[in-house]
Amino acid sequence: MEARVSDGRDISGEFDGSDAGRAVRRDGAVRAAVEQGLLGPGTPIVGLLDVAGIRESAAALRAAFDAVTAPGTPVLHAFAVKATPLVPVVRLLHEEGIGAEVASPGELALARAAGVPAERTVLDSPAKTPDELREALALGIAVNADNPQELERLDALMAEGTSASPVGIRVNPQVGGGSIEALSTATATSKFGVALRDEGTREWVVRAYLDRPWLTRLHAHTGSQGIPPALMTEGVRETYALAEEINERAGRRQVDTLDIGGGLPVNFASDETTPTYAEYARVLREAVPGLFDGRYGLVTEFGRSLLAKHGTIVARVEYAKSAGDRPIAVTHAGVQVATRTVYAPGSWPLRVAAYDGKGQPKEGPDVVQDVAGPACFAGDLLAVGRALPLLEQGDYAAVLDTGAYYFAHHYAYNSLARPAVHGFTVDETGTGTGTEAGAGTEAGAGGVAFATVRTAQTVAEIVAEAGGEHADALTGELRPGRAGAV
Ligand SMILES: *Cc1c(COP(=O)(O)O)cnc(C)c1O
Repeated sequence: MEARVSDGRDISGEFDGSDAGRAVRRDGAVRAAVEQGLLGPGTPIVGLLDVAGIRESAAALRAAFDAVTAPGTPVLHAFAVKATPLVPVVRLLHEEGIGAEVASPGELALARAAGVPAERTVLDSPAKTPDELREALALGIAVNADNPQELERLDALMAEGTSASPVGIRVNPQVGGGSIEALSTATATSKFGVALRDEGTREWVVRAYLDRPWLTRLHAHTGSQGIPPALMTEGVRETYALAEEINERAGRRQVDTLDIGGGLPVNFASDETTPTYAEYARVLREAVPGLFDGRYGLVTEFGRSLLAKHGTIVARVEYAKSAGDRPIAVTHAGVQVATRTVYAPGSWPLRVAAYDGKGQPKEGPDVVQDVAGPACFAGDLLAVGRALPLLEQGDYAAVLDTGAYYFAHHYAYNSLARPAVHGFTVDETGTGTGTEAGAGTEAGAGGVAFATVRTAQTVAEIVAEAGGEHADALTGELRPGRAGAV
């Protein structure tokens, strides 16, 4: 198989086979989406998910920790559902041996709808209500308490009855931040967890465990994109040292499981997967060998690194124009699907690949151009001054690496509809004939089969979600005491 990305570069020597395979599959999926009518003038934007790529990442995560843990060590990899809150994705990961980390009643419901059992689910949120805590304990879901007040609520609930839930405390090791302030969870003043280096806090945490035999876990998540792995490792080391201290003072192995969070950064600059799970696991094992010798069970909570590189937003170029000599492609992908990139382009640059109206990688010399979205504000730009083959009317712009925190995180600006999301598999045997499609999939040209992961939002749904059934709410007789007033 020839390893070429859509800009024609030969990338065979640049990265391993699975990264190259992913780029080739993506090109095949874009073409097939156009050929099969999932994308076109009437459906100018879709999200595509590479099922084989997701399976590969899940397998790589499992293998990375299998390679560094003592045989028999319990390891739960819990997918941070917020990264891609789509039920079929959570189900696919569950089938690949990955559980769920949830942080709201909605995410818990998604994980349950996907069939993830309670013992493979972890609840972490900084604002859990008493009802949420009660439900989690009743279900037997692992809970990480964020702060002393939450621990008091848990005290009261634990006194009411027994629960199968493993319970821990989330600590902030305060090891410092990364390059993206908004995603740095281990700064001195981060809002998450118990700030371990604040005066008196470490002793408070140890006492909290000594007073509560049911506290058996310890949790830290030191940040997401922008945190260097060395800093993540430092956070894990601090957490491990605290577990050792608690267990020594307790005179028993009270803390039996460490939850080391997620946060492995993703490379948005090329198709290369870097850093890899295997590299991170090796670094961790070198820095904190005691964590892997079988005395502790492990929980991880990766999100972005499992899904980002397997998602692509493809949007039709509705118009091509120019302003001040700058070509501008006006597409259907903007702030509604790439919110972070549009509002904070410096922190969240995304690659854009150009395809022609048939979904074939576009050839031609690079032209510096802007790639704009459909929303009505000037800053709705996916890329500014980007060198690409010139995008023309009816072409497609593919926004790469958008499988996590992008098309599943719709932002309702301008009442733009949530696009459909389709999963795809590519027949890589190279026969080029259609694949055998199972229930719910549509086999087609080029050996690419699609399955609907999420249907597009309809205009009727937009009206309903915008209070359509309460159209008269404000113009009727709204006075205290009158029917209709809440
Ligand atoms: C967001 C989050 C994660 C996942 O972070 P990624 O950067 O997507 O891997 C894991 N754990 C907690 C507590 C989080 O808030």
